[in-house]
Amino acid sequence: MRAAWTTDGGVWHLGFRLDAEDDIIGTVTDGQAVRMATNSCRVRLPRPLPDVHPDLSALAAWTVVAPWTTRRITFDRPVSRDLAAAIEQGFGIEAGPVGAPPRAGTRLAVSYSGGADSVAVAAMLPDAPLVHFQRVPHQRVPNRWTHYRADVLAKLAARTGRDLTIVQSDLEFTLAEPRPGYPEHHAVAVGAILMAGELDLGGIAFGYEMGSRWLGGGRYLHRYTPHNPMWSPGGRWGRLFAAAGLPIVLPVGGVSEAVTMRLALGSPLREQVRWCLRGDDGGPCGVCGKCLYKELIQAAIERRPLRTTITASRPVAAKWQQPPPYGGQEMIEYGCARVPGIEGTPFAKAAEYLGATEESTGWLERCYRPAIKEIPAPWRRQVADFMAGEVGFMTQNEARHVEMWGQAT
Ligand SMILES: [Zn+2]
Repeated sequence: MRAAWTTDGGVWHLGFRLDAEDDIIGTVTDGQAVRMATNSCRVRLPRPLPDVHPDLSALAAWTVVAPWTTRRITFDRPVSRDLAAAIEQGFGIEAGPVGAPPRAGTRLAVSYSGGADSVAVAAMLPDAPLVHFQRVPHQRVPNRWTHYRADVLAKLAARTGRDLTIVQSDLEFTLAEPRPGYPEHHAVAVGAILMAGELDLGGIAFGYEMGSRWLGGGRYLHRYTPHNPMWSPGGRWGRLFAAAGLPIVLPVGGVSEAVTMRLALGSPLREQVRWCLRGDDGGPCGVCGKCLYKELIQAAIERRPLRTTITASRPVAAKWQQPPPYGGQEMIEYGCARVPGIEGTPFAKAAEYLGATEESTGWLERCYRPAIKEIPAPWRRQVADFMAGEVGFMTQNEARHVEMWGQAT
C-alpha cells in the first residue's frame, strides 16, 4: 500500500494505491470484513496548517488504509523509527520510509461525537478542547445515506460553547460494504490527529466505555477483553497512538453506559446530547435501533416506564425476540432489571431470557479500577478524583462480574 497526502489550503486529500498483494476486501482490527469503494478521501480542517509532523499524517492515513494493507505501507514522508516499529510489531506490516524525530505534545483533546459517552468525557474534562468529526458526501461515491444527519450533530456540538474544532471528511465513503463508515474505528480521530501539532496535543480522549473497552462491545460479542487490540494501551492501536505522541485516553473506560448516560444528562451539556444519527433539529428520531437501546438505558436510570412506539414485531426490535448473547448485553440486563413494566415492551422476551435483577446488575453503577490505571499519568488523578466523587469504585466481587463476562457461571 502507498499512501500520500496533498493539501490545498485546509483541505487534505489522501490518495492510496494497492500493492500487488493487496485486495479491496480487507479486515478491520475487530474482525469485520470490509470492501473498498474508492481509493481517495478528503479531510477539511478549519484552517491551513504550516507544518504537520510526518508521524501524524502517517497515523491519520493508517486509520483509513490499514484494513486493506497486506504486507507493507509506504508513506509519502519519512516517519519516526518508533512509529514504524509500532506498525511492524502491532500489525505485522513493514512500514517506511524511516527518518524523522519522534514528536510529543502536552494537552488532552476530546474526540467528541455528541453521544452520551463523549458528553460524559467532555463534562469530566471541562477545560479540554473538543474535536468533532463531521461526515460529508464524497465527490465520487453516491450518497445513499442522506438520512444520516451529520450536519445536525455538528450544530449541536457548536452549541456546547466549548473550544471546538469541527473537521469535515468523506473518508467513510472509502468503505462500500458493509456500509459507509470508519475503515478503522480510529479514523474518527483523523482531524484530531492532523491538528495535534497545532493544538499541542499529547493525548486524545475517546468516549469508549466499559462495554467497548472491557466487555467486548460493538462487533465483539460478550467476552472479557483485557487485551482489546483497539483500545487497550498495550494493544496494537494503543502502542501506535503512543508512538505518535498521542496516547489513547479512555476517561469513561471503567464505567457502563448507565453511568455515562447519568453523567451526560446531569451535565451542563445535557441539551446537546444526541446519540441518534437520524434525528433533525427537533430531536432524535425515536424509531431507530439506537434510539430504542438508549431509551431502555435512560428509562432505567430515571426509573420510569419505556417511552416508545416501537413494538416487538418491528424489524429494529427483532434481535430482542431472540435468545442472548446480545451486543451491549450488560446494558440490556441493566435495563430489563430496572424498567417498570418491561413485560409490556419490545424487551419482554429478552428480559425473560436474561432473568437479570437489580442485585445482579449493581456492578454496572460503579467504576472498574483497572481502567483508571490505564489513564496516562498527566490526567490520571483528575479522572480518579472524578470517579471517586461522582461514581464510586467496584468491590472485588463486583469487579469479578467484569472479569468473568462471557463465561458460563
Ligand atoms: Zn434514532
